[in-house]
Amino acid sequence: MTPPILFIVIPCYNEQEALPITAKRLTELTDDMVARGLIDPSSRVVLVDDGSRDATWDVISRLHAADARFEGVKLAHNVGHMNALWAGMTLSSGRCDCVISIDADLQDDVNAMYGFLDEFGKGADVVYGVRSSRRRDTWFKRTTAQGFYKIMRKLGADLVYNHADYRLLSARALEALLSFGEVNMFLRGMVPLLGFKTAEVYYERGERVAGESKYPLKKMIAFAMEGITSLSNKPIRYVLLLGALCALLGVVMAIYVLVSLVRGHTVQGWASLMMSIWLLGGLQLMALGLIGEYVGKIYMETKRRPKFILEEHLKS
Ligand code: UDP
Ligand code: MG
Repeated sequence: MTPPILFIVIPCYNEQEALPITAKRLTELTDDMVARGLIDPSSRVVLVDDGSRDATWDVISRLHAADARFEGVKLAHNVGHMNALWAGMTLSSGRCDCVISIDADLQDDVNAMYGFLDEFGKGADVVYGVRSSRRRDTWFKRTTAQGFYKIMRKLGADLVYNHADYRLLSARALEALLSFGEVNMFLRGMVPLLGFKTAEVYYERGERVAGESKYPLKKMIAFAMEGITSLSNKPIRYVLLLGALCALLGVVMAIYVLVSLVRGHTVQGWASLMMSIWLLGGLQLMALGLIGEYVGKIYMETKRRPKFILEEHLKS
């Protein structure tokens, strides 16, 4: 078997400090992989400049001029991590046998790529890089991130625990992923929807090589909200459930109110007021939940996701 053509896609936002170090590491890595016959010499590293405001693009241009294996993609403005990754993957699709996505800061151990390629060679279409521990993250990042995975699971989104966006996709998995039509993207939740044969490779996550995190708390919360609302209709279900619960409580209240009324423990108007508050409140919540169900359906429709993903087709 000839070695696969590998494309490594890296979103870069204001990464002028980290990029030179990252590029050097990747040069060594891909040299070694080619020497060992693990990847084809025409493999590429695709650097996507996500509308950086620093000298990132200059660094990328220089890298490209010096070494043809570095490709540069410049986005006209900042579109965020996910979309930048999507751009890089779109431009790689059809030109490679597999693509690996990794952050520019090399917090994810590049040596795990050997494991990725190994699993790919054994037939996996999707290989997840999974952090074996979060020891080196700050306490805050660790707890919030883990809480996030737990909530996501509860809400029905199938996420791989402690997997970020460090993963390998085969050409056909990539093509399938790119056929998803949604604009609000949460890649981590979309990849498991693909199916195909998957594998996991564990690695230690380190510190950023240089520069600072581009994910402050505000972006993290937005990211979590995006994840929940783009994958799951469950929050709407909870409203419906709450409405049903309120209506049920309303019935209990109604009985209580009627009993009080008959016993004459009430002031004028109290009974009717109480009944309307509980029953109407419950009904309103239920109605909202019901409308929400339809809005949720419309929402899923507008994503225009593929109805099936082809794995194989035997024909002659
Ligand atoms: N990134 C991007 N666009 C953005 C924000 C981040 O392309 O708007 C890239 C960034 O350059 C890095 C990756 O996304 O390669 C992850 O960002 P970062 O390392 O800052 O996140 P953290 O590891 O702190 O969660
Ligand atoms: Mg990082």
